[in-house]
Amino acid sequence: MKNTEVPLPVRGMRDFVGADARTFHHVVDRLQTVVCRYGFSPIEMPLVEFTSLFVRSLGDTSDVVDKEMFTFEDRSGQSISLRPEGTASAVRALITNKLTQTLPQKWSYYGPMFRYDRPQKGRYRQFYQFGVEDLGASGPLSDVEAISMAMEGVQSLGINGATLFINSIGDAATRADYRAKLVAYFEAYKGDLSEDSQRRLTVNPLRILDSKDAKDQELVRGAPQISGSFTPEAARFFDRVKEGLAALGLTFKLDPCLVRGLDYYDHTTFEIKAPVGEGSTLLAVVGGGRYNGLVEQMGGPSVPAVGWAAGLDRLMLAVEAPAVEVPPVAVLFVGEAEDVAALQGAHRLRGLVQNPVLMPAEGNLAKRMKMSDRAGALCVFLIGEDELKTGQLKVKFLRSTGEFEEGAECVVAETELAAWTAQHLSPLTKPE
Ligand code: AMP
Repeated sequence: MKNTEVPLPVRGMRDFVGADARTFHHVVDRLQTVVCRYGFSPIEMPLVEFTSLFVRSLGDTSDVVDKEMFTFEDRSGQSISLRPEGTASAVRALITNKLTQTLPQKWSYYGPMFRYDRPQKGRYRQFYQFGVEDLGASGPLSDVEAISMAMEGVQSLGINGATLFINSIGDAATRADYRAKLVAYFEAYKGDLSEDSQRRLTVNPLRILDSKDAKDQELVRGAPQISGSFTPEAARFFDRVKEGLAALGLTFKLDPCLVRGLDYYDHTTFEIKAPVGEGSTLLAVVGGGRYNGLVEQMGGPSVPAVGWAAGLDRLMLAVEAPAVEVPPVAVLFVGEAEDVAALQGAHRLRGLVQNPVLMPAEGNLAKRMKMSDRAGALCVFLIGEDELKTGQLKVKFLRSTGEFEEGAECVVAETELAAWTAQHLSPLTKPE
């Protein structure tokens, strides 16, 4: 029996069609151009990894692992998960491809990530990130370069009003001292904390600083700050980062609560917030930081690293769809008898011009003319009985150009086609 139910996308997942798809690729291209100039090269990684990879790297108390992973058993009963972020896979790739002795590795990637979050504007269950990982980068100036690259990426999209927030969560000794101070402080208010934060108090008290709960936030305002727990090394590292940012003329705001949701960070953490969408709400469009311990924690040697991920869905909200760079042209046969000649004509044109060449084949001539117009065609080449006999093509302009008015017509001899297209369309650089 025919299934008449209308298929729907899975909640929190969507298609990019038309202008959205153009915007998506425009954003990726711009970011790729920027990071390439900093010496980062693309890496492609699987969308699926063993669940244990994310549990070990992000931490089993992180919200992402605790509540948001798309986890399945495959047919052999192994637990696998759709990747919720890229850093864990990049670290796994560094180890599995035996590159831990060939450092630095400077990688960039983009693609879908999956988190079972509550969908809303700017938050999806399948969302897209563009990320970079600078594996083997140990010094504070690498953090500065990573941050400056992220800012440049956002600015290259023409987004104004982006603000950089930075913090340091220090080294392991810093965090051990700070954890004890935080627990002592929050224990006194335990009953007032949200249920989630009461749990965090025992498993990961730093996460309370990240809480979205209004009451928690009020208590957080009175909490001790991490700078009071910095070891001299951690303080020096952070000072160097701040000096480096200032040397590049990058302004920033210190946010002592910026601990980020994942377990693997140490030293520098940062976020870029930008006004996006209607109402210009300030949303985090980039998040990142240093993760010196992660490669070792995942079974490799000690490899210091720094990286970030930009949220493409959110950047798309702040960017206008780019215009189509080279408009298409269309070849239309007048009668069915000329359809193969039109097919050949379109084929020949594709060897001459950069313009996409369309050959609408459905419906009568008027309908195909309309389709060409809707597709944004600059002009149509008409091939009918007369044109075939005389070797002369009729060209009709559907849009005004510098030389032709909308509706203008002209006749081009087939033998002159290469010269004519070179003059009036966008010729391929390679001659015919
Ligand atoms: P995170 O890995 O959580 O630090 O996220 C880095 C960036 O990815 C954020 O700043 C957001 O721009 C984006 N992002 C994270 N989660 C989502 C989501 N569910 N939907 C859309 N964008 C997201």
